Amino acid sequence: MPPAPAAVAGRTIIIGAGQAGLQVAVELRQAGYAGAVTLVGEEAAQPYHRPPLSKAYLTGEKSLDALQMRGQAFYSEQAITFMPGLAATGIDRAARHVVLADGTALTYDHLVLATGAAARPLSCPGHDFVGVMTLRSLDDATALKARLATARHLVVVGGGFIGLEAAASARKLGVAVSVLEMQDRLMARAVGPDVSQHFATVHRSHGVDLRLGQGIAEVVGEAGKAMAVRTTAGDTLPADIVLAGIGVTPNTALALSAGLPVSNGIVVDEAQRTSDPRIHALGDVCAFPAPHGAGLIRLESVQNAVDQAKVVAASITGQPACYRSVPWFWSDQYDLKLQMVGLSQGHDAVIERGSRDENRFSVFYMKAGRLIAIDSINRPADHMRGRKLLAPGAAPVGADEIDTHFAARRD
Ligand code: FAD
Ligand code: NDP
Repeated sequence: MPPAPAAVAGRTIIIGAGQAGLQVAVELRQAGYAGAVTLVGEEAAQPYHRPPLSKAYLTGEKSLDALQMRGQAFYSEQAITFMPGLAATGIDRAARHVVLADGTALTYDHLVLATGAAARPLSCPGHDFVGVMTLRSLDDATALKARLATARHLVVVGGGFIGLEAAASARKLGVAVSVLEMQDRLMARAVGPDVSQHFATVHRSHGVDLRLGQGIAEVVGEAGKAMAVRTTAGDTLPADIVLAGIGVTPNTALALSAGLPVSNGIVVDEAQRTSDPRIHALGDVCAFPAPHGAGLIRLESVQNAVDQAKVVAASITGQPACYRSVPWFWSDQYDLKLQMVGLSQGHDAVIERGSRDENRFSVFYMKAGRLIAIDSINRPADHMRGRKLLAPGAAPVGADEIDTHFAARRD
């Protein structure tokens, strides 16, 4: 039986109209919240899906319309006041006001901070030349897409998700691509070494000039326009676009100025509450208690934003609220669908099943004899099964059970 709708009233203001912010509005209405809901976003666009920005939107396979999360009518039908193109600039916690960039002060009973994260810019000489770009917003993606239409050489700095997805998209468009990654392997934050190795092979097979253990020393330009990149190894690479995919910084300025605790993200408890019970935070911007009491973590994924939104809505409407999800992620590069479930950091053994040659395999990460995470390449059934087996409260899976649960399965 679903819980009885909570006819809680009041005024909830959500700052940030991205994945997390919009989802909180949706979940509040689904939970029967009867109060006023205002969604404030500094971007001019309606809330949109970010994942296609580095994939199908960049290659032209997905249109702008297909990125919209909800149609125009949704906001009026759900009585959600959407205020686009307006940044929140301050919070007066004593008066329970949020101040917007145009001077408007909005009073709240509940405030939700869903301000996401900002792409980290390059800081090397030449970082401000025309053609040096980051990719976070729709505007960024539209500008990059326009530039890729005439570009011949793209240099990507950073071999994480952004860099590699953009590299794959640019290769599809016929642009020559170099990728510089400081570490000795790709996507080191997210996947294990075997998966990094496989993606390095695949990118190279698509013609990417991949340079591990190298960063950018300088953008070389003429008349303020990027022309080349000098690497930390002293090589010079032609570049009419330099794309930085070197990670993000959580947008914590509002929380900091309001005196809320911040530690690589706005600190929240398992109900997504900050130290002020009237203020919740979620998504890329929050640092939340890791499962198994391992300190605070901050995750950057759609799943995390969506699942935490349910918890925020439950907390505001006075229902049991506790964030205990198994994290999962995905990335599409060429014809590889990479799906990750669980966090593999700290694993002490790996089991691999499937075929690397066929681009269909899964790596199972074990810690103290127990399954903690799975990276799957073109094996969606392994991923889906892993989400069930790794769910909070599920029985531990030992090494001798992997074949029973997974290997016999065909996708
Ligand atoms: P955001 O979506 O960043 O939204 C935050 C919003 O708050 C922004 O619109 C911002 O402008 C606004 N804001 C900030 N400060 C203020 C303020 N003071 N006032 C008002 N508004 C403010 N994740 C996956 O799981 N799978 C993928 O394949 C994937 N692909 C991605 C591809 C790209 C190119 C990018 C950039 C991200 C991708 N992600 C992916 C990550 C995913 O999009 C994020 O984890 C998710 O968007 C986080 O949601 P959020 O609402 O916390 O932050
Ligand atoms: P990541 O942090 O995932 O990756 C950045 C990579 O760049 C790291 O390996 C980092 O190494 C490396 N790096 C940092 N500085 C330099 C440098 N100066 N020279 C060379 N390499 C460097 O961030 P991304 O930028 O790839 O992604 C940004 C955000 O977008 C994240 O929130 C990500 O989750 C999200 N995203 C998610 C996608 C998905 O889930 N499929 C797809 C696209 C984006 P080090 O760790 O040593 O700093």
